[in-house]
Amino acid sequence: MKQKQILSQLTAYQQGKQTHEIKEEYGLEKIVKLASNENVYGYSSKVKADLSEHLPELNIYPDGHTAELRTALSKRLAVEEDQLIFGSGSEELIQIICRAFVQEGSNTVMAANSFPQYKHNTFIEGGTVKEVSIASDGKHDLEAILEAIDEDTVVVWICAPDNPTGTMNTEDQFLQFMKKCPEDVLVVLDEAYREFVEDEYLLDSTTYTKSFPNLISLRTFSKAYGLAGLRIGYGIGNPELIHNLNVVRGPFNTTSVAQRAATVALEDQAFINETTAKNLEVKEEFYQFLDELNWDYYRSHTNFILVSTPASGLDVFQYLIENGFIIRPGELLGYPNSIRITIGTKEDMQELQHLLQKFDEQIR
Ligand SMILES: *Cc1c(COP(=O)(O)O)cnc(C)c1O
Repeated sequence: MKQKQILSQLTAYQQGKQTHEIKEEYGLEKIVKLASNENVYGYSSKVKADLSEHLPELNIYPDGHTAELRTALSKRLAVEEDQLIFGSGSEELIQIICRAFVQEGSNTVMAANSFPQYKHNTFIEGGTVKEVSIASDGKHDLEAILEAIDEDTVVVWICAPDNPTGTMNTEDQFLQFMKKCPEDVLVVLDEAYREFVEDEYLLDSTTYTKSFPNLISLRTFSKAYGLAGLRIGYGIGNPELIHNLNVVRGPFNTTSVAQRAATVALEDQAFINETTAKNLEVKEEFYQFLDELNWDYYRSHTNFILVSTPASGLDVFQYLIENGFIIRPGELLGYPNSIRITIGTKEDMQELQHLLQKFDEQIR
């Protein structure tokens, strides 16, 4: 058949094995999944209570305008309602942006080995990708990204904090970048891990979307809010940009259950505060452990850490999976001899540290 030629050069997303499969394969009772940066503390109990009491009518199409959540978010963020767009996860917004901006001959610019969906969706729309090496501190090299922009560039992807490094640029670096970036190039600021960022590092991105019409911030309920299974995220941008993206968006792209859950989750700020406080505490303990072990890592503004390992990340992965922990080998993320670990609960991380210690002793 006559499908796009590029499809033969791409692969569908390779998801890891499901935990029940791994349990069977290795005869394990318990599996701790620290591979996808999900919220290890679950999600707001208010969401659970609300959904069990008022499950939306499932025979009825969802509100395509997402009015309830839209109003709640516009109040929370102090933005106009027409500055918001919703997606089936922020991943769908990446897809919508590519459909709206990328065509044959255009390119998008990103930091090398940042979130793979930027590249994947650019390719599907017939564009090419310019990948710019990261700086030695793991951050996006925004100067080099500016230099990579040419007349065919339609989108620049800035992941802040970045997946998989966990690093992010300073507010000043970002502002300088925005001031120098051509006004006809869309800057996508992917803030999937925004809630985990310590206050002093937060970018005031909602305000910037008002001063820079070529900026969109993408956020999600999948990570800190713990609703990855429901698939809902949103974008904040200039009303004209949002209008154009809405032309591409499917009419009922987020479910009624997801819309309701997100609205309730937004009200439970205490859950987010607990999650981020625990994450920070356990992350600090893990840094100390890594320092003692003498394994290098980037300090992270998220709920995961990219760690350099004294062996192939695939070997560490295999060792850990046999012992009940799933992490991400860096080999699959463009970082050989590394692993990306979601910060687990205190107890799980203590067990993991014990295993990593043993692994380190075995290979020396
Ligand atoms: C997880 C993640 C997303 C996508 O999250 P959704 O579940 O699609 O909302 C987007 N960007 C980055 C960098 C991520 O890590």
